[in-house]
Amino acid sequence: MYYLDNAATTQVLRGAADCALDCMTNNYGNPSSLHLMGLAAEEVLDKSRRELACVLKCKPCELYFTSSATESNNTAVFGAALRNEPKRKKIVTSRIEHPSVNTAVNELEKRGYDVVKVDPKNGGYRACDFVDAVDKDTALVSVMYVNNETGLVLPVEEIAKGVRAKNPDTLIHIDGVQAFCKYDISVKDLGADMFSVSAHKIHGPKGIGALYLKEGLKIPSLIYGGGQERNFRSGTESVPLIAAFGYAVNQMNKIRKEAFLHVLEINKYLKRELANIKGIEINSGDNASPYILNFSVAGIPSEVMLHYLEGCGIYLSSGSACSKGKKSGILPILGYSKEREESSLRVSFSYDTKKEAADALLTHLNRGIKDIIV
Ligand code: PLP
Repeated sequence: MYYLDNAATTQVLRGAADCALDCMTNNYGNPSSLHLMGLAAEEVLDKSRRELACVLKCKPCELYFTSSATESNNTAVFGAALRNEPKRKKIVTSRIEHPSVNTAVNELEKRGYDVVKVDPKNGGYRACDFVDAVDKDTALVSVMYVNNETGLVLPVEEIAKGVRAKNPDTLIHIDGVQAFCKYDISVKDLGADMFSVSAHKIHGPKGIGALYLKEGLKIPSLIYGGGQERNFRSGTESVPLIAAFGYAVNQMNKIRKEAFLHVLEINKYLKRELANIKGIEINSGDNASPYILNFSVAGIPSEVMLHYLEGCGIYLSSGSACSKGKKSGILPILGYSKEREESSLRVSFSYDTKKEAADALLTHLNRGIKDIIV
């Protein structure tokens, strides 16, 4: 079996799973309890928070655990909007955001916000187009670091710098899910007010994420209750998942540079070989993260080839599926034809991807093209 769908999710590290198990069966106290077991559970939260802070280069007190990056993104978008009501009612974002930002801003648009979705130019994004869209009424600029379908890297630092210079009151949120533990990130140097991450893209478990909120920034909560996470995100903290998240962050950060180079090598190899196969066109440009490679197979619908490859033990994604095959429309936004979108596939790598997986993919793609087309 060859798993080439790491942008969708990753295998949980054994050590991370062990941490979770320990917090379920042994160290199972509630961090809000005042006794020793409560304190031990609280120490688990603190440790994981420190691990994340170390990687994002911020203070532990600037991080809040959430149920997912979807929740982090929703909290950032709605929080920035509500904080400014009724003063600033404009939101600027890109046209290629993940649905957890895109549908959140659509909801704000329905409620009367002025939402500007910046279009790409020549298959990429320019910081000046975001800055131009910002005015005195802009509450938030929300932009992703790495696009999850093509790997396109957006100029987030330049965007934040330009926006800050134009309107210092505009908040900047970065969806960092596909960049976290892959790029060297300093939320301060990036100029982010808010930054979202998720555990299951970095070999941690599903159902746990975090939101960086710059020290001193106050935005309204989405979830009210017992006042956990310093009164910002109520609900008993998922200590097992948070323990596993901290472990995964620490491990993945330790191997970040070598993993990046390893993935880059496989990506370059696969890209080169794919270019030699008749009918294959690459949809990830030179400005893409090496972790994601999107391509189209002319004349073969994504799902047909995806299931053919599945039959050969190769697991990847349809190149522009947002959920269960529904097309996201992002490839046409980036300038590719509808036909190219309909036949697109996404492979996504991780530190444990072997060159053998790329070779198996090439062999079966070649066979598939012959078998399916005739
Ligand atoms: N943002 C991006 C760029 C993503 O790729 C994803 C997951 O696919 C998310 C947000 C949502 O993350 P989660 O699955 O933790 O809700």
